[in-house]
Amino acid sequence: MTPDVRPLVAGNWKMNGTRAALDQIKAMAAGVDGPLAEKVDALICPPATLLYVATALSTDSPLMIGAQDCHQNAAGAHTGDISADMIADCFGTHVIVGHSERRSDHAETDHLVRAKAQAAHAADLTAIICIGETAEERKSGQTLDILKRQLALSVPDGATAEDTVIAYEPVWAIGTGLTPTVEDIEAAHAFMRAELASRFQAAGRTMRILYGGSVKPGNARELMAVENVDGALVGGASLKASDFLAIYNAYEALTA
Ligand code: PEP
Repeated sequence: MTPDVRPLVAGNWKMNGTRAALDQIKAMAAGVDGPLAEKVDALICPPATLLYVATALSTDSPLMIGAQDCHQNAAGAHTGDISADMIADCFGTHVIVGHSERRSDHAETDHLVRAKAQAAHAADLTAIICIGETAEERKSGQTLDILKRQLALSVPDGATAEDTVIAYEPVWAIGTGLTPTVEDIEAAHAFMRAELASRFQAAGRTMRILYGGSVKPGNARELMAVENVDGALVGGASLKASDFLAIYNAYEALTA
């Protein structure tokens, strides 16, 4: 955790969830509507098809709803894409950009991720910018170099602690059940904090840095307690309300 930084527990449903899954959103909206919401934010990013209904279901709850990607342009001839304005129009508040699955499935570059983050900011959305090394990069000792490059190139100038969240997601930890050691997470987050503080000064000292990659109810408390870990980006374990809420509620002990 970082002193005076409000943690964020964010769920990424990826390409999962039809209308039947809206019951999970309802349960999450009810589950986060308690005293912990005064200290910890909760966000779910369902597929774009569920965005509008999901925001309607959570209007009376602190649960926020976001999207998983946006186009870098405001509008135009881009079949199949959605713009940041469209997300905001559905009352979404956040958008994930640069997730490793977008970087690998769609060959997204740091340059493009930065443009998407800028598009998000122009629509008054908070951009959750994902970075992280592959297994090969880690094995060859390049982790911090990769994080330095991705932070430098994917995060736009002028990013603030309000409009930008960094999500550190080691690619090899996503969906594998593997996580770095607590010491490795601490070292990576300390490095990112120093990079952000040097580039963005005060904003960089309080910009949230989430950890993502196989976060589960069983390891959330240990991982979220690490210095400079300001929340989680959760994939698989965010599909079920009971798991997502168990991760969110790990903060009961951490913020007591
Ligand atoms: C993710 O895809 O952002 C993620 C962290 O997935 P998982 O929690 O399933 O590893």
